[in-house]
Amino acid sequence: MTDLFLKTEDLGRLIASVRDGGARFIAPSTDARQTAFKEVSGADEVVSDYILATNSYKEFLFPQTEVISTHKVMKDSVELKGVELEAQGTVIFGARPCEAASLAALGAVFTWDFVDEFYTKREADTVVIAVACTRGDDACFCTTVGLSPDATAGVDVMFKEADGGWAVARLTDKGSTFVEKHKDVFEKTACAPKPLFYPEKIKGVDVEKIKERLSNKGHYEDPVWPELARKCIGCGACTFTCPTCHCFDIIDEGTAYEGERRKNWDACQFDHFTLHASGHNPRDTQYKRWRNRFMCKFKFYPDKFSSKGCVGCGRCIRVCPVRLDITEVMEEMSKLP
Ligand code: SF4
Ligand code: SF4
Repeated sequence: MTDLFLKTEDLGRLIASVRDGGARFIAPSTDARQTAFKEVSGADEVVSDYILATNSYKEFLFPQTEVISTHKVMKDSVELKGVELEAQGTVIFGARPCEAASLAALGAVFTWDFVDEFYTKREADTVVIAVACTRGDDACFCTTVGLSPDATAGVDVMFKEADGGWAVARLTDKGSTFVEKHKDVFEKTACAPKPLFYPEKIKGVDVEKIKERLSNKGHYEDPVWPELARKCIGCGACTFTCPTCHCFDIIDEGTAYEGERRKNWDACQFDHFTLHASGHNPRDTQYKRWRNRFMCKFKFYPDKFSSKGCVGCGRCIRVCPVRLDITEVMEEMSKLP
């Protein structure tokens, strides 16, 4: 239903209402001179003039680091304590529809062979309010991977910019409950949203052909890989900012007598990611690591989870220090040999 309206000046009331209910309000804000998702306490902290926040909001469901257990060695015993997560209610405001679609990918991997409650409990208590895109940049390519500036996957409440505020649509039960809970800040008025920005589909990219080409294991030895990924320096920035990347490692920190076990983000672009204790590394060069990232997006994810490994947000293109553009690789891989 799109019969509701939120006035720009009432965003502050919505934030206050959410926070009064004990939840945190996450929105694009200024952090280290960048627009980034962070917790805000008032509308004056929310940035509206942005295309996409630098970071993905995945870090509020899957933090960069978190303690999952603690240990203490005592005279006659060892004390092991698992952390029981109590998720805080979370509202993500200002997500772009491409990024919201990534939740299906994260949810699939965190409930696949093991239900990771550190993720699932947070996701269950999160409401995603997407703001449809009225502008974009050259790095946006959602339409090439089958999404759009008002795609609804993963979105609980859709906001569309209109004169003086946003047209509001409830898309899920969770979204309806949220709107009902904060109904005093919304007005019952229909309005005409502003036109949306549709990135042009990239000619020469065919996601099905990419998958077909990657299905033939012969591509592993294709000399095109070292050529395409030669300039990658393995910094991992693409993986840390990507909304669907989810790799993590478990590390024990502290001393032999007392410490904690942490779940930390990791990245397939790091040279030690697949390093075995023997010293052997099956992905011993950077192009093999990059090839794996590409295969994860366009072969492993769609095969295993029927969800999108790449949502076309373009973050990896914007952030890459050597300008390795994933869409150029997509174009090359769309050519069947
Ligand atoms: S691979 Fe790049 S464009 Fe695709 S979802 Fe990840 S960051 Fe966005
Ligand atoms: S951001 Fe660029 S250089 Fe860094 S790992 Fe990703 S592709 Fe390589």
